[in-house]
Amino acid sequence: MINRISSVCSFTADKRIIDSHVHLGTWKNDYYYPDRLKQYTGTTQSGQNVEKFFASTLDCLVKRDGKYIKNETEGNLDMVNNIKRYNAQDYVKPLLVCQPDSGAASNIEQLIKSHNLFYGLKFHPIDAKLNADSELYNPYMKLAEKYSLTTVFHSGPLGTEASPQKIYNLAKKFPKVPVVLYHMSLSPGGSVGNLTEEEIARRGLSNDRGKWVWEVREKWNQDGIDAVKESIAKKDANLYLETSWTKPETIVKAIKEVGADRVLFGTDAPIGDFGEFANKGKYYEYVDSIQNAIRTEFKEKADEVIEKVFYKNAENLFNPQTFPVNTNTISRTKPGKIIGIAAGIVGAGVGLFALNKQVKNQKALKNTQVPIQQLYKFNAFA
Ligand SMILES: [Zn+2]
Repeated sequence: MINRISSVCSFTADKRIIDSHVHLGTWKNDYYYPDRLKQYTGTTQSGQNVEKFFASTLDCLVKRDGKYIKNETEGNLDMVNNIKRYNAQDYVKPLLVCQPDSGAASNIEQLIKSHNLFYGLKFHPIDAKLNADSELYNPYMKLAEKYSLTTVFHSGPLGTEASPQKIYNLAKKFPKVPVVLYHMSLSPGGSVGNLTEEEIARRGLSNDRGKWVWEVREKWNQDGIDAVKESIAKKDANLYLETSWTKPETIVKAIKEVGADRVLFGTDAPIGDFGEFANKGKYYEYVDSIQNAIRTEFKEKADEVIEKVFYKNAENLFNPQTFPVNTNTISRTKPGKIIGIAAGIVGAGVGLFALNKQVKNQKALKNTQVPIQQLYKFNAFA
């Protein structure tokens, strides 16, 4: 296991934090409502204020018996309903989960048009069992381009559907679309034992396979870092790294190699590796351990680095109505549909009404899928 440093810093600057990778929805035998995220809001021991989260629903990512728990439309709507029911709009910002293996970009476009409160598109090539450079992603990427939305991808080991190189291949086809490599290439977990002897030697791994996931995950993180480095050098894609499941020292390394403008803080909460049932204390300890590592490395420049990694980069990338100043030479175009966005604001009331109606229609369905102990929460809002 990793030893997280839990020292308390002496600085007390009131800094804001955005967590760019969290989840709602079904996980194993549990169901995450926005209150699971609310517990992490507030101020850490070192004076960092956890303000908001960019969330995607696990219901559209996890498959059971080969089928997603919910399709693109139903799952994403469910997430929005829950955010509204819990009055969590201020701190939970939804990303639309896309299912290019079985869905259609038109489903996603309909949600964007009718609700106007989505901040990006999320993909999980391994869950979808679909290579990230498959043409089936193209219609979704075109939507991202059209509505000026950032995309986020689960990224994993070379050779898998979510390898950084495959995601980079796709990103090259849509160089204006920001593409975030969640986990900066996650270590292979259960499949770690399948690596060939050559691959083991190439990566300089020890023979203790049990330690690989936790203690040598940076060997895989480097694949993500290298893809972003290459894209910056070649100026042929708009790639970023996200920090969940990575060690503080690897995050520092990533910042040094790709620059503070290219790294976003994220945790995968409530699933993150600070503990599946992480409490607020563990979450804050994780935040502070990363910031301490940044302070040790970047010294007087640390405040600026922390502000970018923990807030500014996400604020710029995930707001569909402001357009980030790009540090790369690739600049994002203004969306072709500003009028659509304005119309969406006007239509929000109508959308809300329609959504409420849909909530009622879906209630019976939901109640069959939600753990019993959570039902009272729905009733409280009904
Ligand atoms: Zn995740």
